[in-house]
Amino acid sequence: MSDSKHFQDATRLTTLGRDPAAYDGVVSLPVHRASTILFPTLADFEKSAVAPTETGRTTYGLIGTPTTFAVETAVAELEGAHGACVVPSGLAAITAALLAVLKAGDHLLITDSAYGPGRRFSNHVLKRFGVEVDYYDPLIGGDIARLFKPNTKAILTESPGSYTFEIQDIPAIAEAAHKHGALVLMDNTWATPLYYKPFAHGVDISIQAATKYMSGHSDLLAGTITFTKECEPLIRQAVRDLGISLAPDDCYLLLRGMRSMAVRLKHQERVALDLANWLATRPEVKQVLHPARPDCPGHALWKRDFTGASGLFSIILHPIEKPALAAFLDHLSIFGMGFSWGGFESLIVPCDPRPIRTASPWTEPGQLIRISVGLEHIDDLKGDLAAGFARMAAAR
Ligand SMILES: *Cc1c(COP(=O)(O)O)cnc(C)c1O
Repeated sequence: MSDSKHFQDATRLTTLGRDPAAYDGVVSLPVHRASTILFPTLADFEKSAVAPTETGRTTYGLIGTPTTFAVETAVAELEGAHGACVVPSGLAAITAALLAVLKAGDHLLITDSAYGPGRRFSNHVLKRFGVEVDYYDPLIGGDIARLFKPNTKAILTESPGSYTFEIQDIPAIAEAAHKHGALVLMDNTWATPLYYKPFAHGVDISIQAATKYMSGHSDLLAGTITFTKECEPLIRQAVRDLGISLAPDDCYLLLRGMRSMAVRLKHQERVALDLANWLATRPEVKQVLHPARPDCPGHALWKRDFTGASGLFSIILHPIEKPALAAFLDHLSIFGMGFSWGGFESLIVPCDPRPIRTASPWTEPGQLIRISVGLEHIDDLKGDLAAGFARMAAAR
């Protein structure tokens, strides 16, 4: 559709990636399922090579289809990036981005609050291929320069952190990294491109688990990597070499989910903060970890850099025995217990950061519980948790 750069994000979400004029007026872009792309002539066949840095043209399904290019353009524009690659999962986005920027002998710094499987990949695979990996305290800010070695080439940030929600000083980390010649990668899944613009804060490569808010319906796995112009050749080459791309049907679902993202997030932001504030008043709860609340580590940075909060946060319970925890979590009627988050349905999971953290040990004795707020009414959500707390009290 027409150039939408001057529109608000909510409006751009309704226009990006559409081309009704090219498809008989059909509102949504059709799915182009393709492995084979035919060449009409020998001359066309002989021009079939598509450079990894080239986009928008395909000669084979793996390189992309019009559906792929539409979603890539939409994501890049929203996040304020030069370009984007879509891949089959959030984890694939993390691993492809790391493989793109690192080689044997390089040193990688990862936030101690990073999404666990990205850590696992770095410890298992990157180390095996000769990359040194160290972890840093998510609240380190510009002091990260202390951890730099001559071979430090990349920093994997995530703000807020998985489970524990520390907000990082990304501009300070980026300034130190760039002085040192290192690249800054950020997992921006929590804020989405709507509530944090990574490239305006010095990030070089941003990652979304589009599985979460971007798709929004718990029925799709997808990841996005967005990048600056300087990083484009690295990322596109790595994604091409790895042989990964998001299937056209999934590209379609992702774009479909994104249409309503601004409206979903507004509801989730309001209800999650309301629920978090209510939970903070409950005697069972020791602390609420929600970036929009002053008791969240790094809250001042959230206020400075973010334009909103999404619907995912944690609570720390006062210590209880396992049967009391089970009484709380079992028999909830709205909150489901399951991995992932960012969908239309509320989720709740117990988590234990202790075995993961190495640079900044997690010492809270009480159970950490992560809550993803969906699209339900606040009264029903409070009622469900209040009934759970009553079961918990009865089981003690
Ligand atoms: C879920 C998640 C991922 C991985 O996404 P998948 O699509 O499940 O692989 C990456 N980062 C964060 C912060 C996540 O929560």
